[in-house]
Amino acid sequence: MKLSARAQRLQPSATLTITAKAKSLKAQGVDVIGFGAGEPDFDSPDHVKEEAIRAINDGMTKYTGVGGIDELKDAILHRLKEDHGLEYEKSEIIASVGAKHTLYNVMQVLFDSGDEVIVPAPYWVSYPEQIKLAEATPIILETSEDDGFKITPDSLKKHINSNTKALILNYPSNPTGATYNEDELRAIVDVAMDAGLTIISDEIYEKIIYGGIKHIPVAALGEDVKKATILVNGVSKTYSMTGWRIGYAAGDKDVISAMSKLQGQSTSNPTSISQWAAIAAFTGDHGVIDDRTKEFEQRKNYIVEKLNDIPQITCFDPQGAFYVFPNVSGYYGKEFEGKIIKDSLDFTEFILVEAKVAVVPGVAFGSDDHVRISYATSMDDIVKGMDRITEALKKLP
Ligand code: PMP
Ligand code: GLU
Repeated sequence: MKLSARAQRLQPSATLTITAKAKSLKAQGVDVIGFGAGEPDFDSPDHVKEEAIRAINDGMTKYTGVGGIDELKDAILHRLKEDHGLEYEKSEIIASVGAKHTLYNVMQVLFDSGDEVIVPAPYWVSYPEQIKLAEATPIILETSEDDGFKITPDSLKKHINSNTKALILNYPSNPTGATYNEDELRAIVDVAMDAGLTIISDEIYEKIIYGGIKHIPVAALGEDVKKATILVNGVSKTYSMTGWRIGYAAGDKDVISAMSKLQGQSTSNPTSISQWAAIAAFTGDHGVIDDRTKEFEQRKNYIVEKLNDIPQITCFDPQGAFYVFPNVSGYYGKEFEGKIIKDSLDFTEFILVEAKVAVVPGVAFGSDDHVRISYATSMDDIVKGMDRITEALKKLP
């Protein structure tokens, strides 16, 4: 059967592919350490699970309103107000099947063929693909380690033209862990606002942030910025609820209403039971989140130090999320068993075969000099995995 041109153009998600590969090797009895998965190793909180069980027992198992139940929208409104002083109406909120689905819907309702969308690189793997699925063109804005993997007002200006429709922001960033402070954000947002761009701000790692930094949503920078911004977030990372599939958007009510129409013809509501679980997450005790973030920070410190101890590797110290994005290009050109390591795919393959550690090649995030290591795994595995990587790389003098 002939596939559509759209389906033929689509790239598989590298993050999900590597995670599946590591899981399948493990199932075959290979002792692989998985640094690929972008999901917290922690379990979903008990009060979340209990609420889901209550929802099932109380018969909350039917279709709900397409964009989520009112109680969930209230819980989202409560969090946005409580955490950031942001006030929205219910008509400006939609819940969907994970933040990935939310982003997909945003792009589908905002972009047309000919539109250009600026994506700072390194980027999360799904942005360019979702932009292309909406028939628009991703315009990649490179950042460098020296600039802390951040875009600047000047670099942004250079990429804007009359076709530019939107700017994607993602901070703390997957894969770099970089985040923006208020001044940096303001400077970027000024340029975006002058050019009349929509800002799609993916803030899914907002609570996983280190060194006492306070996350500032773009939308909190002023009423005009809030109007131009679609804020995207969800429960996956903050509450270790990746499998429950609840994400949301907050923003302009016409955009939200178009997303709801699209959802009504595609997925309908996100799972009713998960919606109740998400309410428990948003409204329940947040102490556990702080504890987990502290644990992530300790892991991050260990792994950054270990990586920087390896002579040919430099590793940027992230301010959030649960990834490190070391530069491994010092190993490119080296030969092992007759094969030259040329790029991040070869490096990843070498690490998988020789160290039995799964990492994601940087090329999937738009930077072939790097690989992504997720430390959303136990400290034991991190210690073992880093020892194995260090040993394996000694074979590449
Ligand atoms: N945005 C970013 C930057 C992510 O890393 C992820 C993780 N998968 C998502 C969105 C989507 O998260 P989910 O669909 O699980 O809510
Ligand atoms: N966002 C996570 C990651 O980057 C999960 C996988 C995915 O949804 O792409 O690994």
